[in-house]
Amino acid sequence: MYIVPEKAIADLVTREASFDAVEKVFAAMAAGDAYNFPVVREAIGHEDALYGFKGGFDRAGLTLGLKAGGYWPNNLEKRGLINHQSTVFLFDPDTGKVKAMVGGNLLTALRTAAASSVSIKHLARQDAKVIGMIGAGHQAKFQLRAALEQRSFEKVIGWNLHPEMLPNLQEVADEAGLPFEAVELDGMREADVIISITSSFDAILKADQVSPGTHVACMGTDTKGKQEVDPQLLVAADVFTDEVAQSVSIGEAQHAIAQGLIQKGDVAQIGAVINGINPGRTSDDQITLFDGTGVGLQDLAVAASVVDVAVEKGIAIEVDF
Ligand code: NAD
Repeated sequence: MYIVPEKAIADLVTREASFDAVEKVFAAMAAGDAYNFPVVREAIGHEDALYGFKGGFDRAGLTLGLKAGGYWPNNLEKRGLINHQSTVFLFDPDTGKVKAMVGGNLLTALRTAAASSVSIKHLARQDAKVIGMIGAGHQAKFQLRAALEQRSFEKVIGWNLHPEMLPNLQEVADEAGLPFEAVELDGMREADVIISITSSFDAILKADQVSPGTHVACMGTDTKGKQEVDPQLLVAADVFTDEVAQSVSIGEAQHAIAQGLIQKGDVAQIGAVINGINPGRTSDDQITLFDGTGVGLQDLAVAASVVDVAVEKGIAIEVDF
């Protein structure tokens, strides 16, 4: 088996490679070639940690495996480590033998950023100029960097519950040479694309704070009980997701579904848009919403591409296991 340690990943993976891997696997999921296993996510009663497994099998790409890990909220303050910790394990689908163990932290950030970026490519208006960020933590920087590559954005606006974190967004806007403005939530009406990436358990963004024609990517809600937007926004929008089963149970759609405001059948797979089966955006005043819940197959796809590059470059550690 091969080991690709976390510290080697930054030199092996690019935003473009992550984007391609995620777009392909979303397409494979919608075509019925790839499926995710039910997610296990447990509050382990230690360090307030959430720990779990996300796995799946891609018959087209022959990728089988899982990501094990989760969220340790005290890591940064107590230990100077990032709060998300995970490792990807890949298996040979022909034999069941373990193929690779790959550091999953940077990969998680990149594959999550790639997901909202894929949704922007396929659902945002071509003339989108203003991008709005709700959230300014570790992941927000990755989401913003990847999103800025999808359209000719001219301005970044941002809101965060903890305003002292807003310089994170300013930093990415500066890198891209774009102006950044901190706004109140009402200011989000100016945005053509909005990404939410917070740890919120209550609706932050109200339906009337989103203008017609906007694409909203809700990326923070990946667990039962979490919530970032008003369920009425899902009524107003055409809703797309990575995986319908996750969207309605642990994603942003869980609340609109529970309140009977929308049905499971109202949530479409983004892969169907990628495959040209679903038309996606059909007018300039339609609101589109991507419920990015984060699927195991995203992790496996990006990890598999990293292993190939690591072996090619002689960086992968080979172990007789
Ligand atoms: P982080 O701890 O670095 O940042 C948390 C962000 O949420 C900050 O902007 C903070 O101000 C905000 N926040 C915290 N409590 C809040 C509250 N009660 N209301 C509103 N905002 C609040 O975390 P991160 O790494 O940036 O991750 C953000 C979220 O994204 C997490 O909830 C994480 O589980 C989720 N996530 C989702 C995926 C996916 O695939 N969908 C992948 C990775 C992370």
